[in-house]
Amino acid sequence: MNPAFAYRKERLHAEDVPLDDIAARYGTPCYVYSRSALEARYDAFSAAFAGQPVRVCYAVKANGNLAVLDVLARRGAGFDIVSGGELARVLAAGGDPRKVVFSGACKLDEEIRYALAQDIACFNVESEPELARLSELAVETGCEARIAIRVNPDVEAGGHRHISTGRREHKFGIALEDAGTLVVRAMTLPGLRLDGVACHIGSQMMGLEPLAAALDQLADFVRTLQSDNVPLRHVDAGGGLGIDHHGQVAPTPAEYARVVLDALGGLGIEIVLEPGRAIAGPAGLLLTRVAYVKQGHGRKFALVDAAMNDLLRPALYEAWHDILPVRAGAAPDAEPIDVVGPVCETGDFLGRDRSLAVRPGDLLAVADGGAYGFVMSSNYNARPRASEVMVAGTQTRLVRRRETVASLWHGETTFGEAEE
Ligand SMILES: *Cc1c(COP(=O)(O)O)cnc(C)c1O
Repeated sequence: MNPAFAYRKERLHAEDVPLDDIAARYGTPCYVYSRSALEARYDAFSAAFAGQPVRVCYAVKANGNLAVLDVLARRGAGFDIVSGGELARVLAAGGDPRKVVFSGACKLDEEIRYALAQDIACFNVESEPELARLSELAVETGCEARIAIRVNPDVEAGGHRHISTGRREHKFGIALEDAGTLVVRAMTLPGLRLDGVACHIGSQMMGLEPLAAALDQLADFVRTLQSDNVPLRHVDAGGGLGIDHHGQVAPTPAEYARVVLDALGGLGIEIVLEPGRAIAGPAGLLLTRVAYVKQGHGRKFALVDAAMNDLLRPALYEAWHDILPVRAGAAPDAEPIDVVGPVCETGDFLGRDRSLAVRPGDLLAVADGGAYGFVMSSNYNARPRASEVMVAGTQTRLVRRRETVASLWHGETTFGEAEE
């Protein structure tokens, strides 16, 4: 976990604020983000590429809270979006549309029109039909769409199969052997300006060899285009850098930068990066309270007030998140226990077989909740979504109110009486 979350006198803190104070004030479950951790993670990326023509476009889908986007926008970040909704979030947070790149295999007409109107920096095009549609809509709206072709270098990034994107059988990108044809098409269709090429091979990369292999192919492709006098302005290496978890150590931004610059540094064009998790993941946690401790047959359960609807990653990817007591010490001996939520699914767990000493009323912190946490939360089982709090030094801000139960059926109506 990030050093912004540390024990002081046996109380786990977010920066200078004890987490039990946050729970008392804002309730649980609650996502807690550290502003300085976010800034430090972003700065580590920029610093690793200092002096190079690099643009860091934070992947909004990792955590799109306005407060998070605001912190990064103030640092000069660009943004990688995958929907019109994310573009609206970026703009609401004061982000610069001219630093936005739009990824995603299925951009819808309304989203494309909106992004064209905002004059975003680049559309990362993932198919021939998308290219054609983008051209039509650009002509129709009198805009020029700057584009990059997203290629699929057919490498396995190594993360969970649901978050690996760089194989031929995945829905993302265009096979390298077809990319040349698409480039020609892009240069002949009206309303388009081909600016770059892109790839993104997947998420939670814990080693850099697959990335190195993919970027070598990407670089070869760029060189081919350059020798054919295609005037490229940038090359986009995507996101996907993993974070330390479960005893595994992720590559540092500096190690990552070495691989990226080795492959792409000599191309003489701007390098775009799209990190999400590596910036936001360790900068947040999920705070939850133990409601019951239940002794089953051969298994003990801590039943807590956060569930898979709040943090889906363990249930969806069998992802590991460290779970820490907010108050260390004083507790009885730790023993193996499953930390599970109130949702009526056997898959509803936050952590299995953990060594924890818990009593009802205790607070637990689920680490690395800053990315793909709140954004993947739902109202399953009619559970209002959690509050989100940001901490900076001794200050806390409620950056998203807990949802109310009544808000859950906002927009719903009953069928009513049949009209004659
Ligand atoms: C999800 C995604 C990212 C961010 O991935 P992380 O693993 O969070 O760094 C970047 N680019 C694209 C195209 C994505 O789909």
